[in-house]
Amino acid sequence: MKLERGSTLVVASHNQGKVREIAALLEPHGLEVRGAAELGLEEPEETGTTFAENAILKARAAAAAGGLAALADDSGLSVEALGGAPGIFSARWAGPKKNFALAMARVERELKALGAADRKAKFVCALALALPTGETELFEGEVHGHLTFPPRGRNGFGYDPIFVAEGMEQTFGEIDPALKHTISHRARAFEKFAASALSP
Ligand code: IMP
Repeated sequence: MKLERGSTLVVASHNQGKVREIAALLEPHGLEVRGAAELGLEEPEETGTTFAENAILKARAAAAAGGLAALADDSGLSVEALGGAPGIFSARWAGPKKNFALAMARVERELKALGAADRKAKFVCALALALPTGETELFEGEVHGHLTFPPRGRNGFGYDPIFVAEGMEQTFGEIDPALKHTISHRARAFEKFAASALSP
């Protein structure tokens, strides 16, 4: 599926920060980017059981309601010893106040309760592109690493201060954000999307 230069794409998110970040990536490829809130589109309930299902349902809902191609992402942290948790509940573990100090403490507590020495984890990003016809394409990116406690660093967001990517010593909260943006799960999913759907 190719998105032609000059066409409009809806970013199926009500998070203005996310819309701006995605717009900055797409505008050099000649696309007009609109946010879901700007078009008055409702946010569907994330009822999927995987990142991919949630990304697809958000992209399809926005494409159908807006009558335009739509791009949605769903992402989170998956901890091996916790069976993949918090996974699709990554944002929800931080509670209504989006308190990630609490969410990171919960990850540590649950690992301790299991007596698990394994600290393997990955960030996952699923990006779904949908057309108003329902045609959908999925692009996934992952970055593998391990967790470290206590949290370190003030860069990034969410679970970045406890995540160390393979081959690194500093957490995503400590490394230069520009470096994170070249190796992250989101960067990898976007590379696949760009290669398949964007005009050079
Ligand atoms: P979403 O934006 O609704 O997909 O929620 C993703 C959640 O996963 C965020 O609130 C973060 O908790 C977590 N997450 C996703 N990507 C990252 C990342 O790059 N660093 C840290 N946490 C992340």
